[in-house]
Amino acid sequence: MSKTIKKIAVLTSGGDSPGMNAAIRSVVRTCAYHQIECVGIYRGYQGMIEGDFIPMGPRTVHNIINKGGTILKSARSKEFMTSEGRKKAYDQLQKAGVEGFVVIGGDGSFTGAEIFNKEFQFPVMGIPGTIDNDIFGTSHTLGYDTALNTVIDCIDKIRDTASSHNRLFFVEVMGRDAGHIALNAGIGGGAEEILIPEEELGLERLLESLKKSKASGKSSSIVVIAEGDKIGKNVFELKDYVEANLPEYEIRVSVLGHMQRGGAPSCYDRVLASRLGVKAVECLLEGKSNFMVGMLNDKVTITPLLQAIKGESEIDRELLRVAEIMSV
Ligand code: ATP
Repeated sequence: MSKTIKKIAVLTSGGDSPGMNAAIRSVVRTCAYHQIECVGIYRGYQGMIEGDFIPMGPRTVHNIINKGGTILKSARSKEFMTSEGRKKAYDQLQKAGVEGFVVIGGDGSFTGAEIFNKEFQFPVMGIPGTIDNDIFGTSHTLGYDTALNTVIDCIDKIRDTASSHNRLFFVEVMGRDAGHIALNAGIGGGAEEILIPEEELGLERLLESLKKSKASGKSSSIVVIAEGDKIGKNVFELKDYVEANLPEYEIRVSVLGHMQRGGAPSCYDRVLASRLGVKAVECLLEGKSNFMVGMLNDKVTITPLLQAIKGESEIDRELLRVAEIMSV
């Protein structure tokens, strides 16, 4: 492995997700393994602009593999979206002797890295970190598996009370533009219906389906709704609409919200983070740059950042059919 790069920085940017700490740990330890220096950048690109750096070694990342959130903090930086801001960031990296960086974040963070790479020919790599799983070039983003498990845990608990009171529950989960969480947690949690941004279910079909389920002898049901479902009504408006049309139902709404972003990462996310961190650093050491590392068919892969940003991460349509069959 050629070792032209002597110092790599790591930062977390955009929304946090479980597994980011495990990825930081992996980047830091892979640097140590290859005997190159590593610095952490606090608060994403804003910290880069301000030179908010900290030297990191294998012992500075002990006891974090199991922690949610990010020890480096995350931020959104408007200043980095300007060429003046990025020049300041470049100057800070130069001053600190940093020769490449690994950014853990979503497509916005990758866009920033891609532009930065073009402007300064600066080596960059991306690790996908977002619970929404909405990034092209990887079957799983960091935090997605943990978020699914969190949602399933909540749905199981809601089911206990739903069945005790013969109630219908609308459970809203995260996913403004992507229905991965709703679809998979919906199937895993045994939901009656699943509403996602990618698919127009329609209000009439929802009513029909709920009527059918009542007629088939179900006394309680759970409907999982992604934040950005296609019907366009928020979950409370949807409740009012269904109650007005199906008065036999007593509906409760549960919005899971930010709890889906927290918690200890699942084993899957920890292993994923460890594998992706190794690959990101080793790519930089091999002279590769401007790629996102990801996981496809359980193999670590690399995808050009631009493709990862522009590509669509589509839902698996077979899951829609499975969901329909399961709610018979
Ligand atoms: P999430 O999935 O949580 O939204 P994200 O990485 O997509 O994560 P963003 O807020 O979109 O989150 O982007 C994070 C940061 O990346 C921004 O605050 C900004 O600093 C930088 N960034 C985003 N888009 C651009 C851009 N077009 N040019 C330069 N920098 C950008």
